[in-house]
Amino acid sequence: MSIKTTIVLVTTFVLGIVFTAFSVIVYQKAKAAYWGRLDAKLQGYATTVREEVDEQTNEHRFPTVADFKDLRSRGLAGSLLRILDSKGNVLVDDTLLDSQSSIAPDELVRRPMIVEHAVLRGERYRTLWTTIDQAQQGRYLLQIALPSTEVEASLQLLQLLLLAGVPIALIISAISVHIIVRGAFRPLAAFVHTVDAIGEKNLRERILLPRQKNEVRSLASTFNGMMDRIERAFASQRQFVADASHEIRTPLAIIRSELEFAQKQNNNESVRESIGTALEEVERLKSLSDNLLTLARIDSAAVVVEKTEVRLDELLADCIRKMKNVAEKKGVALVLQIDEVSTIPADREKLQRAILNIVDNALKYSYAGGTVTITTRVSDGQVDILVRDEGEGIPQEELAKIFERFHRTESQRSGAEGSGLGLAIVRGIVELHHGTLAVASEQGKGSVFTISLPLDGPT
Ligand code: ADP
Repeated sequence: MSIKTTIVLVTTFVLGIVFTAFSVIVYQKAKAAYWGRLDAKLQGYATTVREEVDEQTNEHRFPTVADFKDLRSRGLAGSLLRILDSKGNVLVDDTLLDSQSSIAPDELVRRPMIVEHAVLRGERYRTLWTTIDQAQQGRYLLQIALPSTEVEASLQLLQLLLLAGVPIALIISAISVHIIVRGAFRPLAAFVHTVDAIGEKNLRERILLPRQKNEVRSLASTFNGMMDRIERAFASQRQFVADASHEIRTPLAIIRSELEFAQKQNNNESVRESIGTALEEVERLKSLSDNLLTLARIDSAAVVVEKTEVRLDELLADCIRKMKNVAEKKGVALVLQIDEVSTIPADREKLQRAILNIVDNALKYSYAGGTVTITTRVSDGQVDILVRDEGEGIPQEELAKIFERFHRTESQRSGAEGSGLGLAIVRGIVELHHGTLAVASEQGKGSVFTISLPLDGPT
């Protein structure tokens, strides 16, 4: 699960708990307040009734229904009331309350006030049972009731609002969190995109710093700092390889001329043979150091690509001429097949070097009597140069690795000459031309190397 989704889910879950707890508390408080207010009103009415009863009994009368009707129009609006004596006989019932009482008289001895809900005359009421204590007449029971529909309706409305409000608030907060998190993570997406694009070849790539000075900005700037250091380390390593291979050339040239001189001067056949072997190794070393220098230059982008309009047929014919002797020596036929003459923007010398490397390999890994064919194919704004051989082929598991530096297939390590740098150079040159290099091979049948170049590539 992505961090974004986790944040949205966890926040929504926590807010859900908070909103629900808040709603429950609000509802309970409102409920207590609403009923408390109604109960206080009932108690106030009970006091008025007590005063009325006191007043009347002082005049040796007991209030009648008419008195209470009168009283109701003055202060007890909306209330229903009933007075019973201590034995439960109804003395006043102006309200047509249900005659049976749900409260036993002695219940009120233990609890001076009992509040309950009741349905009276088909309506919902809150009723209060209490006592009217008189010095001479003793105790009366008073039941007084007020409609509770208004309070219930208010509470129902509040419940509805809270029940609907919690999910709505949750949806709004989840959307807000999602928008905020997406905004906060957007620079990170750009960050990942840039980091993805950074490879050995484009160590110059840097992350664009976001304008706000936040954590992402400091992460990006730390990363850029690290990339600076890596770029410097790579550059100094390439420089070292380039310097080393350059420095080695002069001593190698001197060794070669000294060896050649010694070979000429010496008449002893076995000594001359040994010097010949040493000369071959010097040649190998020279070509190795040349290749290393070329690769270091390609890597450091110090190499200058001098593109001109190159006629491919001429370039390939040149390659064939150069490789004719090698092919003849090996007994391999070298064939050029061009259907369409095309011109491409390329650095002639470098492209020739790349093609020669591939043709050289094709001849090197061919059997005597085989054929190496060079063909071209023009399609979709690009030209393909295919070099096909009928040699030993390359194992499938090696195909992806042969372009790596110093990689040689297992069978070649002890056999044919080579250093494993030729194809790395080819790839470097092809990439400098914004092209691609591909290989297809079947063991025992041969290989096809394809260089694809854009016909109107950037110059
Ligand atoms: P090398 O100097 O060893 O030829 P390359 O980089 O040119 O180095 O090639 C790398 C490896 O790829 C070679 O060692 C060889 O094993 C394999 N290879 C390249 N071209 C061919 C080919 N035409 N047929 C078979 N194997 C090949």
